[in-house]
Amino acid sequence: MLTIKDKTFVPFIDENRLKNRIFQLAEQINQDYRDKEPLLVVVLNGAFIFAAELMTHLTIPCRVTFIRVSSYQQTASTGVVREVLGLGEPVTGQDVILIEDIIDTGLTIQDVSRQLTGQQPASLAIATMLFKPDALKVPVNIQYVGFEIENRFVIGYGLDYDELGRNTKEILVLA
Ligand code: 5GP
Repeated sequence: MLTIKDKTFVPFIDENRLKNRIFQLAEQINQDYRDKEPLLVVVLNGAFIFAAELMTHLTIPCRVTFIRVSSYQQTASTGVVREVLGLGEPVTGQDVILIEDIIDTGLTIQDVSRQLTGQQPASLAIATMLFKPDALKVPVNIQYVGFEIENRFVIGYGLDYDELGRNTKEILVLA
């Protein structure tokens, strides 16, 4: 159990399940991109731990860059997607894998995908650690999903509540 400010969180996905699943996703990416050299575009802040773990299991040549967006305030989506920090390099002609922590309404990843597609990458895939299918408001084509979860607020392993709670080895859910 973990209490942050006014909220209590309880264990949801333990460290073993999480790491095993991330390893499986990496193996799948190693297969799918065996003749390629993908560019991982990590959506900050929440995806940094997932991306790091995933990348340590990639055996293909790959590079990484970061984009920072924010659409959330506390535990409810504002529905406003904002690019805070842009890409350091163009993705034109690259095999891009967008790395997200969690897809909820899908608005963030839709917006980021559009921005990247505008730069004409060779291909664009999406990998997310968590996905809430019941919360989805726009169609998104996700190639790699760690876990599909119910529509509840989770923290840990990079995900925050009011910027706290990112530093856990497991995923916890609002009690
Ligand atoms: P979307 O645009 O798909 O609604 O939301 C995506 C972003 O909202 C994620 O990258 C994440 O920052 C935040 N988010 C969505 N659901 C949750 C959740 O259950 N917990 C936390 N901590 N953040 C969430």
